[in-house]
Amino acid sequence: MTRLNDFETIRQWDNANFVHPWEGMGEIGNNRRTFTEAASGIHITTETGKRLIDGPAGMWCVQVGYGNTEIADAMAEQARDMAYFSPFSNTNSAPARLAHEVARRTPGDLNRVFFTTGGSTAVDTAVRFVQFRNNVLGKPEKKVIISRQKAYHGSTYLAASVSGKERDKGWLDQAQELAYFLPNVNSHIRPDGMSIADFLDEKIADLENAIHDIGANKVAAFIAEPLLASGGVIVPPEGYHKRCLEVCRKHDVLYISDEVVTGWGRLGHWFASEEVFDIVPDIITTAKGLTSGYVPMGACIISDALIDSISGDNSQGATFSNGFTYSGHPVSAAAALKNIEIFERDGILDHVRSVAPLFQERLDALRDHPIVSDTRGMGLVGCVECSIDGSVKNGLEQDRAIGARIDHHCQDMGLLLRPLINMCVFSPPLIISEDQINQMFDIMEKGIALAAAEIQ
Ligand code: PLP
Repeated sequence: MTRLNDFETIRQWDNANFVHPWEGMGEIGNNRRTFTEAASGIHITTETGKRLIDGPAGMWCVQVGYGNTEIADAMAEQARDMAYFSPFSNTNSAPARLAHEVARRTPGDLNRVFFTTGGSTAVDTAVRFVQFRNNVLGKPEKKVIISRQKAYHGSTYLAASVSGKERDKGWLDQAQELAYFLPNVNSHIRPDGMSIADFLDEKIADLENAIHDIGANKVAAFIAEPLLASGGVIVPPEGYHKRCLEVCRKHDVLYISDEVVTGWGRLGHWFASEEVFDIVPDIITTAKGLTSGYVPMGACIISDALIDSISGDNSQGATFSNGFTYSGHPVSAAAALKNIEIFERDGILDHVRSVAPLFQERLDALRDHPIVSDTRGMGLVGCVECSIDGSVKNGLEQDRAIGARIDHHCQDMGLLLRPLINMCVFSPPLIISEDQINQMFDIMEKGIALAAAEIQ
């Protein structure tokens, strides 16, 4: 392992040469990012040797925890046997087996697995596929994708174009004609006096009206995360997805469920669409937990019905000319296959379902703190949102960096969080025990109190 005094040199290289995601141009070249070079189970170790519970599990992805030698060995073995094959001209048993294992776990007839390099390319592929299909069907004008404010679907041009986080839109161009954004589905900020049922009706009407205004003949698909993850863990009102699907069906609009975060056990099931939200979408996009983050891989999973509608006699001679050098990479596939095997053998889904109630109970209890304006979560994902006076609607005008303050104090006590302006989000490795969940929230309670004391 790198010695502590080597890090200053490497930090210079990091600053001079490594352009990070969401790099702030004002700070580029002068950052002091923490080096994390070792990890085991739910813990990561920083350059100073400090051990932290990894609250966000990397980026919501290290499901089976760090240091899993079975996955590492499976990858090494695959790399030794067959490190690469061309998915354009050949095939290979690792991704073929994986496609079968994925299809066995998806709802309905979602059986056609297009492998990608991550979540953004899975979303990109989904958008391209629905547009391609409409071209083949002779409906070239049916192209618009309806998305939602606060949605995050990725960082390729198309995935970013259907993402609705205002903060991320400032400096980059998007395909504006492609996407339409529905208003926020966060029921906590509904107008005073409005019931959740009325709020839900309003959200459904938003979708219906959008399709009407744009014209059903122009709308190709609706895309939605089961819960808006990086938008602040916004769980829509109960029944929302089901009713949205009904609206989509009525108007011949496809439903893309973006399960990049919610897939692979995060909510206690392989996928959340059917088991948690009672819908069978037309397309599921997934990534992250598919390999527990050990190696990049994503997938765009398409229903048999969609493929059948444009294949064989219906194909018009078309080719879906979308694909990546690393589609179905065998080393990624080997990692994913081992990951799924571990999930099955170790009962990870059952484990999540058994510890999630404690996680959510401890999360709810954070609301007792005066600066906490809202907590939201489901399964093993949570968000705590703060405002100076604890009021939901005031936001945190006076101190928008409260999330960073809480994270800073929690890190001192051994817990890493993911701060997002006035929120902290967390989605720990799925192997977390009840004791570790209690430890996590004990630290968070203290971290929130310390941050609150600073801003009073
Ligand atoms: N979709 C959702 C819901 C996500 O949360 C993310 C990433 O966080 C993506 C897509 C993009 O995935 P990736 O970063 O693997 O490209």
